[in-house]
Amino acid sequence: MFRICVLTLPLLLLLCCPSTLRAQGLDIESRYSPLNRRRSPRGSTEYIILHTTEGGGRGSLEKLRRFGEAHYMVDTDGKVYRIIERHRIATHAGRSMWNGRTNLDNFSIGIEVVGYHDKPMTSAQIRALRELLRQLKAIYSIPDNRILPHSMVAYGSPNRWHRANHRGRKRCGMLMAREDIRAQIGLHDKPRADPDVRAGRLVVADEFLERVLFGPSAPGPGAAAASAAPAAPADPNVIARNRSAWDIAREQYNAPTTFYEFPDGRVLRGNEISNWNTMPPGTVVRIGSSATLEQQSESERVITIGTDTRSAREFAGDAALDEKTIYFLPTGEVIRGNELTPAQLDSLVDGTGMLVGYVSGGRISARRRAFDIVGPRWNLATTFYRFPDGTVRTGDQINERNIPLQTEVFFQP
Ligand SMILES: [Zn+2]
Repeated sequence: MFRICVLTLPLLLLLCCPSTLRAQGLDIESRYSPLNRRRSPRGSTEYIILHTTEGGGRGSLEKLRRFGEAHYMVDTDGKVYRIIERHRIATHAGRSMWNGRTNLDNFSIGIEVVGYHDKPMTSAQIRALRELLRQLKAIYSIPDNRILPHSMVAYGSPNRWHRANHRGRKRCGMLMAREDIRAQIGLHDKPRADPDVRAGRLVVADEFLERVLFGPSAPGPGAAAASAAPAAPADPNVIARNRSAWDIAREQYNAPTTFYEFPDGRVLRGNEISNWNTMPPGTVVRIGSSATLEQQSESERVITIGTDTRSAREFAGDAALDEKTIYFLPTGEVIRGNELTPAQLDSLVDGTGMLVGYVSGGRISARRRAFDIVGPRWNLATTFYRFPDGTVRTGDQINERNIPLQTEVFFQP
């Protein structure tokens, strides 16, 4: 009797469990995030977004699990880990837009490939990613031209270099736009142009990236070299005439964790620099102590004047007076940028918080819960809740049943 059980159990499992069958050809293991069960189901699945971790496998898996920031991770040895169940929302795309639609987390599956945006994948990764994509494409009927690198859909809100919403916030997954690499992972079509740039919703802030993403289809010898190295050949972490602090550090340019080593030996943090126009060429930029750009969390945060930036205008440029910039005054008042005169803007006191690119969804009431206001985005790290006592929490930090009445909800429209 015992012997029969031992022999038949694996066979029964194989016959009964469809995920076992689907796993054929894929070395896959579940390492679900502690946040997995808190994540809402997605309404639809229309895209697959491809990322590069910009770091090694072990640290990446820990970080992706901690924040629930991908559905799958493909390690350099071809092993695949499940992090968030594929029918739920993972927070991998951050501030994103494609064809006029924003917040692609709500419509997409996110796959993190261990490695770097400008380095080739290992052959084991190529095989694994190809098989994972084949299975997901079959399940969700996703065409190849909707399988996009993160850098193709990420966008930045205005800052002092780019006074409009712009493409080029990240180079994440960049090489997976190249036709030769797409062919290796079984993809035979890709977008030929950026629909949001064409429609005037975004401007191009990284021309090199734009060329890699949408450039010439046949990678000749010149094209391959151009894709492998940034436009300026010298050290990519050094400020030059054609390479600004933003080009190097992107949205971390004025963070207290970004260090600038000036040619005269002085070292300043990003939040200690007031005049970005006079940054001397030769200044070395060091981003964080260990975290790379892609490892920065995709969650948004409240920017504090006096801590994260010297002034609202320095951080947000002209958008500081936009109706989609929200200010949390230390007095407890909440106002929009378009309610301020330029003089009032310049006299905002230290400690004022700001959210750029947000609108208010109104307040929580007994009959209007978080889900009624923002739908499945209610528990994402990009949705903000301001409690009546003034504390601000993100959706991933709250329990829907315990949100106080009168809490105001802010989200990216
Ligand atoms: Zn990414």
